[in-house]
Amino acid sequence: MDAVMDMEPAICAATKAESIENTDVITMRNINKSYRMGTQSLHVLKDVSLTVKQGEYLAILGPSGSGKSTLMNIIGCMDVMDSGNYLLDGVAIEQVTYFLIPTYNVLQNIVMPLLMRGMGLAEAQETSMDTIDMLGLSQRIGHKPNELSGGQQQRVAIARALVGKPAILLADEPTGALDVNSGKEVLKLFENLNQMGNTIVMITHDLNVAKHAGRVVRIVDGEIYEN
Ligand code: ADP
Repeated sequence: MDAVMDMEPAICAATKAESIENTDVITMRNINKSYRMGTQSLHVLKDVSLTVKQGEYLAILGPSGSGKSTLMNIIGCMDVMDSGNYLLDGVAIEQVTYFLIPTYNVLQNIVMPLLMRGMGLAEAQETSMDTIDMLGLSQRIGHKPNELSGGQQQRVAIARALVGKPAILLADEPTGALDVNSGKEVLKLFENLNQMGNTIVMITHDLNVAKHAGRVVRIVDGEIYEN
């Protein structure tokens, strides 16, 4: 599982409550997180405060080991903080798995979160069609993940994260496993999705990737710097 998680860019989503412009979707105050390793404790996040507004496209930029994934996991409610306050759009989180199921085709992978919410198959497919079209996957809905390029697989993962109309799209190193052109495609797609009103938070170690976001914050040794 860990190996798969390392290979695949992480995308998860919080459930959208309602569309209110200019509201804070993420409010973090003085978040601390340590990992205990035997008798040692590693202080990974140090009084991290961060606010993200609806409609923002934020990059969290930092070198390997700076605490990006730890922060992202707390934002996505896949991990818990030791202390601090975290408010996410005032709603419960729905966690969306982001690796593709190899035996499912594109359509089955994309509709799965809707089916898991109890939506019927026909309605789930109907609901997903706009997203599938928007991501240019209409011609690929019957294909299995191993019949797709890395960039196409990435778009399926993004489509699956989007079908449930998330409040925030969280992307962990979205271009990390991709060749240069596929990486550019994904960044262009994120720009388009953001222009359409989607709130995006991505983490990256690459300044050239971070520059595509509307706002960049840096994380160095577990501390956040805005500039
Ligand atoms: P980044 O995503 O910026 O590379 P991480 O958040 O993955 O950074 O890791 C920050 C630090 O915390 C690193 O030193 C890493 O080794 C350590 N770390 C991450 N996860 C764990 C864990 N589950 N147990 C112990 N240490 C961890």
